[in-house]
Amino acid sequence: MKRIGILALQGDFEAHARTLTRLGADPVFVRTAADLDTVDAIIIPGGESTTMLKLLHAENLLAPLAAFGRRRPIFGTCAGAILLAAGVSHPAQEGLGLMDIDVERNAYGRQIDSRVTRLTPEAEFAARTHPGEMEAVFIRAPVIRRVGPQARVLARYQGDPVLVEQGKHLVATFHPELTADSRVHELFLSKL
Ligand code: GLN
Repeated sequence: MKRIGILALQGDFEAHARTLTRLGADPVFVRTAADLDTVDAIIIPGGESTTMLKLLHAENLLAPLAAFGRRRPIFGTCAGAILLAAGVSHPAQEGLGLMDIDVERNAYGRQIDSRVTRLTPEAEFAARTHPGEMEAVFIRAPVIRRVGPQARVLARYQGDPVLVEQGKHLVATFHPELTADSRVHELFLSKL
């Protein structure tokens, strides 16, 4: 069974563990660099990216996590997507730079700060998982403002990319771990 790490310093890591268990994968909470050696892939959950970054520094985990991402798949949701991005604004902050995308934090503004909506993923996503609309939960989500030539958009909301893949890495600005639809996690597991 594949061992899937979930960065468990802060945020909604428990929800990802429940989704992985439902899919028959073996979730492992990652809190140290040594934990990284025991997993085949990593999920960086939603939460607060600045806090997560501080904790990554405190645990001396930032460089080991970047090195892990050069060899193995990483899936980032919301704050996790911010940490994987090449460029971060509003405010700017450093990150792993493993995905060639730029994100603007908290960019949906006050009115739609957080919402549950439905979106129709791109045909490629449907072909690789199952077709059909998807429920998407946004919580103080970033907007992906730029997608580099190596990255592929797998779903959009209001025209903006919300699910993007680049090679072995995947980011979602919404929270697939909070709904019953497991297709995004299935897609990630298919990369192993
Ligand atoms: N607004 C958060 C941040 O900037 C992300 C929110 C989330 O992960 N749900 O880090």
